[in-house]
Amino acid sequence: MKQTFDVVVIGAGPGGYIAAIRAAQLGFKVACIDQWTNAKGGPAPGGTCTNVGCIPSKALLQSSEHFEQAVRHFAEHGIVFAEAPAVDLKKMLARKDRVVAQNNDGILYLFKKNRVAFFHGTGAFVGRSDEGYEIRVSAPAQQTLTAQHVIVATGSRARPLPGVAFDEKRVLSNDGALAMANVPRRLGVIGAGVIGLELGSVWRRLGAEVTVLEALPTFLPAADQDVAREAQKVFAKQGLKIELGAKVEAVRTSQGGVRVDWTGPDGKAQQLECDRLIVAIGRIPNTDGLNAEAVGLARDERGYIVVDEECRTNLPGVWAIGDVVRGPMLAHKAEEEGVAVAERIAGQRPHVNFETIPWVIYTSPEIAWVGATEQRLQQSGRPYRVGTFPFMANGRARALGDTTGFVKILADAATDEVLGVHMIGPWVSELIAEAVMAMEFRAAAEDIARICHAHPSLAEVTKEAALAVDRRPLNF
Ligand code: FAD
Ligand code: AMP
Repeated sequence: MKQTFDVVVIGAGPGGYIAAIRAAQLGFKVACIDQWTNAKGGPAPGGTCTNVGCIPSKALLQSSEHFEQAVRHFAEHGIVFAEAPAVDLKKMLARKDRVVAQNNDGILYLFKKNRVAFFHGTGAFVGRSDEGYEIRVSAPAQQTLTAQHVIVATGSRARPLPGVAFDEKRVLSNDGALAMANVPRRLGVIGAGVIGLELGSVWRRLGAEVTVLEALPTFLPAADQDVAREAQKVFAKQGLKIELGAKVEAVRTSQGGVRVDWTGPDGKAQQLECDRLIVAIGRIPNTDGLNAEAVGLARDERGYIVVDEECRTNLPGVWAIGDVVRGPMLAHKAEEEGVAVAERIAGQRPHVNFETIPWVIYTSPEIAWVGATEQRLQQSGRPYRVGTFPFMANGRARALGDTTGFVKILADAATDEVLGVHMIGPWVSELIAEAVMAMEFRAAAEDIARICHAHPSLAEVTKEAALAVDRRPLNF
């Protein structure tokens, strides 16, 4: 059977499902195809983000943080336990699975509400005719769809180390790392990026001895280096061992565990023996099942679909968004592109500002930033002023019992325009939204400094950092 739509979206991750909803809001007849299947064989829309990414990792980060608080910090608040708190991992993982399922169901509900036709299966290009592009949906849904507009939002998957396949028992991608049935005594992590640090933190809090091997000599090179240095110091204090400049030579698995042979920056050969190894060295775009050749959809040498700034591919009417195209692999970047593409199909002229896409690492302390780092401003030669304010001097942070970190604001030396905001500390994943808003409105540091912030609140640290740009913080 053949069905005709105005827009067919392939992939229901945060890029695809949001694009489908926005297109439906704009009056188009929309179909969305997604292949992700849950344990019962049913559809599980939401992509990497919902099933094995943002959502389950944040569920486990929260659970493991509660445990760490109970073990290490509740006593400071005068809360004592008759017996030491313990982890029921089965229950913790079941809760994480419920959170994921709620999100899957939420997306199916939104599709119904917005009259998006959902097809569970793999979408592949068949060809092109006057009616538009023909796309076959294979099992479990068996359908052929046609549409003048196709949005490819097929996302990404974990990149394995060359010659070391993921078995999800000893050598784990994010999929296996979010579902370990017991806490390993010794856990190795390859890659100190966002995913490696978040997953390493979860299992360290639950009791694993964690060693992270990172190839680059610099810790978190994309972050402002003041923030990166503070993070490295705090992570080391927590017991997260991070080895920089580590060259992985060989990985061998056995019944007993995994052995990683690696070379340190001094050229010395070293071994890491661990029970399990998480490999988090980046991700590769998913284009395998698409049959892109059938229509001549262009990909670059690394497999990404080639797009312009507006997500147009080389084919008229075919768009691509999210992890399968250039740019940061972030759910909210995929969503913004999804909305923008739907609006472009409707003839509108939206704009995605890459300079105001926030970055967040949900470790403890949390790390968040938007805009330029100090090292980038130094390289560009643009004159700037810096204002920094510590959580240590904030009443709410003291009351919380979490005074780690600071907020740092970089502003243009002449105009005072905010160029970058860098945060490390409690709840900065939420605080960063104010900085994004300020930059989107091209605010000056003084604009933030003059806004009334509730007292006591962690957001006052942002205000004080803005005052510090002009050398006049009030509480420091
Ligand atoms: P995906 O979410 O990958 O969705 C693509 C969907 O398309 C999938 O369901 C896939 O099965 C389906 N698909 C692929 N090919 C086909 C086909 N031919 N037919 C039908 N369906 C197909 N980002 C953040 O912003 N914040 C975070 O906190 C965060 N945490 C993360 C934690 C982890 C452990 C990981 C791995 C990632 C995390 N990310 C986070 C990144 C985020 O998950 C991705 O950037 C985001 O999911 C990309 O969205 P997408 O829609 O492009 O693709
Ligand atoms: P991200 O890009 O945030 O997913 O992080 C991936 C991290 O893995 C980056 O910090 C990379 O430098 C790091 N990385 C990539 N390849 C290797 C490797 N072979 N060994 C160790 N670290 C690696």
